[in-house]
Amino acid sequence: MTDWESLRRSMVDLQIAARGISDMRVLDTMLEVPRHLFVGRGMEASAYGDHALPIGEEQTISQPYMVAIMTAALHLTGEEKVLEIGTGSGYQAAILSKLADRVFSVERIESLAKRARHTLETLGLLNVSIVVGDGTIGWKEFAPYDRILVTAGSPAVPTSLIEQLADPGILVIPVGSMAMQQLRIIEKRDGVVKEHDEGGCTFVPLLGKDGWEHRAR
Ligand code: SAH
Repeated sequence: MTDWESLRRSMVDLQIAARGISDMRVLDTMLEVPRHLFVGRGMEASAYGDHALPIGEEQTISQPYMVAIMTAALHLTGEEKVLEIGTGSGYQAAILSKLADRVFSVERIESLAKRARHTLETLGLLNVSIVVGDGTIGWKEFAPYDRILVTAGSPAVPTSLIEQLADPGILVIPVGSMAMQQLRIIEKRDGVVKEHDEGGCTFVPLLGKDGWEHRAR
């Protein structure tokens, strides 16, 4: 029997805490969520490695450290309504679901949305709603959101997402070229929007109206 718990403990200690993430709520949540249930069949053994992994449809589940950085940047207290763009495997949504009040997540690929819904249901994480659509225009119905997290790389910050961000609110989004982005943290407070970059990262492209409209295959 694989000892998933000790694999998670090493992941959190060696890949996340050792690199400077000290938010205990984030560390505890990453210790709890069974990441191996979110990767493709046959890849469970690699689920706790220090890297992204394929989840089908040319998409990936993000590296654990990147999930930790993005989650910590959101400064969640447990009360927030969060919008995620790019559900993928549902792993990031699972982490958010334990740290926030309610999670709304948009995924453009139906098969991924379906599988993520199933995985989250199996784990009893019932405060996550997933819709299939173009997340570059946000999810207007439930706006505004206290936090917005985009887990795909965008050429610019989609205006709808700034509009759907509550005040005060925090939006985290990788912005840059298709090959390389900077993790941008955007804070809205008293009507003023401030932003800074947290460092380099590499995500699959955000495809859609306000993202990469045409993808060179
Ligand atoms: N957060 C995911 C990783 C996401 S990978 C996880 O924890 O596993 C990025 C995802 O964004 C992919 O599944 C991709 O299909 C999706 N995506 C790309 N463009 C999108 C868009 N415009 N709207 C919604 N999802 C999008």
